[in-house]
Amino acid sequence: MIGGGVAGIQAALDLANHGITVHLIEREPTIGGHMAQLDKTFPTNDCSMCILSPKMVDVQRHKNIRIHTLAEVEQVEGKAGDFKVTVREHPRYIDMVACTGCGDCIEVCPVEVYNRFDAGVGVRKAIYKPHPQVVPDRVVKDNEHCIECGLCYDSCGPQAILREDTEKETIITASTIVVATGYDVFDAQKKGPLGYLKYPDVITSLELERMINASGPTSGKIRRLSDGREPESIVFIQCVGSRDAPLRRPWCSCVCCMQAMKNAMLIREKHPEIAVTIFYMDVRAYGKGYEEYYERAKSVGVKFLRGMPSDLHADASGTGLSFQVENTETGEIEVLRPGLVVLSVGIEPSGATAALAENLGLPLEESGFLRSLHDAVDTAGTVRPGIFVAGAAVSPKDIPDSVASGGAAAMRAFAGAKKKTAARARSR
Ligand code: SF4
Ligand code: SF4
Ligand code: SF4
Repeated sequence: MIGGGVAGIQAALDLANHGITVHLIEREPTIGGHMAQLDKTFPTNDCSMCILSPKMVDVQRHKNIRIHTLAEVEQVEGKAGDFKVTVREHPRYIDMVACTGCGDCIEVCPVEVYNRFDAGVGVRKAIYKPHPQVVPDRVVKDNEHCIECGLCYDSCGPQAILREDTEKETIITASTIVVATGYDVFDAQKKGPLGYLKYPDVITSLELERMINASGPTSGKIRRLSDGREPESIVFIQCVGSRDAPLRRPWCSCVCCMQAMKNAMLIREKHPEIAVTIFYMDVRAYGKGYEEYYERAKSVGVKFLRGMPSDLHADASGTGLSFQVENTETGEIEVLRPGLVVLSVGIEPSGATAALAENLGLPLEESGFLRSLHDAVDTAGTVRPGIFVAGAAVSPKDIPDSVASGGAAAMRAFAGAKKKTAARARSR
């Protein structure tokens, strides 16, 4: 299993529960993927980690699953029923057996750096867990930022922190391979006129997810990054890095209309004093219960305005933001001065997918997503027998579709693994 997001987790559990040994290869220090960064999920508004965390723990405890974190597939040889997969595990500088995950070392570390998991809103130490519910529950030492002050070594009772560590190469034999390498979010700097990183109060939807999360860096408080105040008004701008042919991203990212509605609704329910407006091209609420969710968002006072602001400016006072937009339903020009702007950034193929696809001999779509055998009737199969694909590595998907896709790929892989087991039994 290559990729430990929700699709890969589901596929790994389904296979392991059917008695198949699974090696789960994840390039981050923890499994969980993007879903672990989200606050709530639509359309139920369940806490994302409350759903995901038990699955992550099941993976960790399962006798048929072996997790490889900080790991990448370097080479794949062989064919269906007999693949030889070379995996490179990057150094963690931690003795995984001795470490208890107590976190005492994190407390004493004096170095703070940007935490990628918090998408720019929070910081972490040089020895850290990306978030409190990591699996495996172990720290990782970031030697790029460590100043070797020695404090963490002194604080660690079991002496689990390593001064020296090296890359490890493991060769795994596998009957089948499932690729579930997930997605990256669009880099909003590529839409320069929208002012991301130019104006501190222009943030992305992923940054808002971390901000709105009660266990996130602001403890769930909605704050302007410029002055730490609660904004009086928030606007969402949709389709940033999606449905944008000049940017070579013509696809709809599927999830961002619903994600914006969810976050707008959560803000309105918690802070009815904050005015929230969503600027959109058209609202895509296609799944079970999604249209009702859209109606619910309107009922709590979320305003939907059809029109797309093309550029943002500092307002005349120099302390806020301002933009003009045509309301394409009324033809009127509206001028807004929002306190916070959220860019609903799109989904695109993860950076690692192209190299991995080349390695595996899998074709890509023009968009860079993995090509499955057939978009209508075989979304898990590929041109290479024994290799299956799942989740948002194939196309943008919400959580229910990612889970379903992981389950589908698992069942296809199960058939291959089972054939191999039967052949082995016959040859004995
Ligand atoms: Fe605790 Fe040591 Fe592990 Fe840090 S390295 S979490 S101090 S056991
Ligand atoms: Fe932090 Fe490095 Fe000092 Fe440990 S040795 S406390 S990781 S700076
Ligand atoms: Fe645009 Fe909505 Fe599609 Fe996202 S889901 S790309 S915001 S239309």
